[in-house]
Amino acid sequence: MAARIGSGSSFGGRASWGYGRADWIDELLALDHEHVWHPYGPMPALTAPLPVVSADGVRLHLADGRELVDGMASWWCAVHGYRNPAIDAALRSQLERMAHVMFGGLTHEPAVRLAAQLVQMAPGELRHVFFADSGSVAVEVALKMCLQARPGRRFLTIRGGYHGDTLGAMAICDPVDGMHALFRGALAEHVFVDRPPRRLEPAYAARLEDAFARHAGGLAGVVVEPVVQGAGGMWFYDPAVVGLLRELCDRHGLLLVLDEIATGFGRTGALFACEHAGVAPDIMCIGKALTGGYLTLAATLCTPAVAHAITNGEGGALMHGPTYMANPLACAAALASLDLLADGSWRESVARIERGLASGLHAAWKLPGVEDVRVLGAIGVVQLAREVDVAAATNAAIEHGVWLRPFRNLVYTMPPYITTDQDVQKIGRAVVAAAAAGGGA
Ligand SMILES: *Cc1c(COP(=O)(O)O)cnc(C)c1O
Repeated sequence: MAARIGSGSSFGGRASWGYGRADWIDELLALDHEHVWHPYGPMPALTAPLPVVSADGVRLHLADGRELVDGMASWWCAVHGYRNPAIDAALRSQLERMAHVMFGGLTHEPAVRLAAQLVQMAPGELRHVFFADSGSVAVEVALKMCLQARPGRRFLTIRGGYHGDTLGAMAICDPVDGMHALFRGALAEHVFVDRPPRRLEPAYAARLEDAFARHAGGLAGVVVEPVVQGAGGMWFYDPAVVGLLRELCDRHGLLLVLDEIATGFGRTGALFACEHAGVAPDIMCIGKALTGGYLTLAATLCTPAVAHAITNGEGGALMHGPTYMANPLACAAALASLDLLADGSWRESVARIERGLASGLHAAWKLPGVEDVRVLGAIGVVQLAREVDVAAATNAAIEHGVWLRPFRNLVYTMPPYITTDQDVQKIGRAVVAAAAAGGGA
């Protein structure tokens, strides 16, 4: 391969760096093992990651020449696949102007146009946009908005959630799966209601009403992922619960924060998952697929009422400002990505993938140790009775030419929207094979 990892001399005279060298992969993996921390991993790592040299469409090209269909869309992000010509071009064109400038006291067209576009797409009265540099930070900003707009100090949320890895966000993640015990004393203690059911029944509604009645006085807001809970367990729940939360927030004068970082931009079959419930939040967090998987960018949107309360409150301003706030390259990628969604053809793509996954994953029901198989939009989940053997499951998927990254007791997929029927079938077979190999039943 002709591409090189660096210019040689810039790596302290390591002219030998580059894909061409025979032992390149070994050296890369040795340095990775020695120096690089990977997500949720020990140091040094117990298993070697797979080196990727390039990606295009829905395919990842590995250093050893293999190619894998990406069943993960790089953790929900790459909805248009890799090397999309329109997003590539938008980034190149922005690069000719500037990669970045600070956002304090300065502004630029990519940020302003993106904010206007997001407001137009967003549900309800969300008219103001605060750009953040990652989803976790967007959640921190949402929490701060509530704390600055409302007298209460705690938050109400539901079990099974995931909102990010920073301390504020972690405190509203599922207390067990979010490992609150590990960080005891460092996390704020919030109000948790049980995970919502697939069908809202009166008993659950009563439990929610009771929690609001008991805690509303001390609350600054209510934060949930609408309809689909992602990294907290890939749970799906009745949209009517989101409707009930809206009603209860209104009744008790509380702010409703919807974390659409995973669900936003079409993934569940609606542009935003709260549309399934026909309600709009006071504050909405978006991220992940916002840039089509190109660069890290997130945003927290709020209503004029929230902005007014903050601006006329004690601080007089929202007390946050990331260094890379509204990075122009990221905003340009986001604008190009939203442009690709604008014609609405993603709806048919997501519906097509939903049908493909539903038929492809059906075979998993027959496997021993499978507890549940569920599909919503372009999300497919096989839930096992116990912890997945990640290495065995991953290898089984790779043998089927597909990249999957199971966690806990879940083998799941959320492929790019451009995935063809043939590749969706391939992913379906890989998920079933991974569940069979990793289920260890
Ligand atoms: C991924 C995710 C986050 C955190 O986003 P990062 O960009 O990883 O910080 C927050 N909320 C939800 C629902 C997510 O899926």
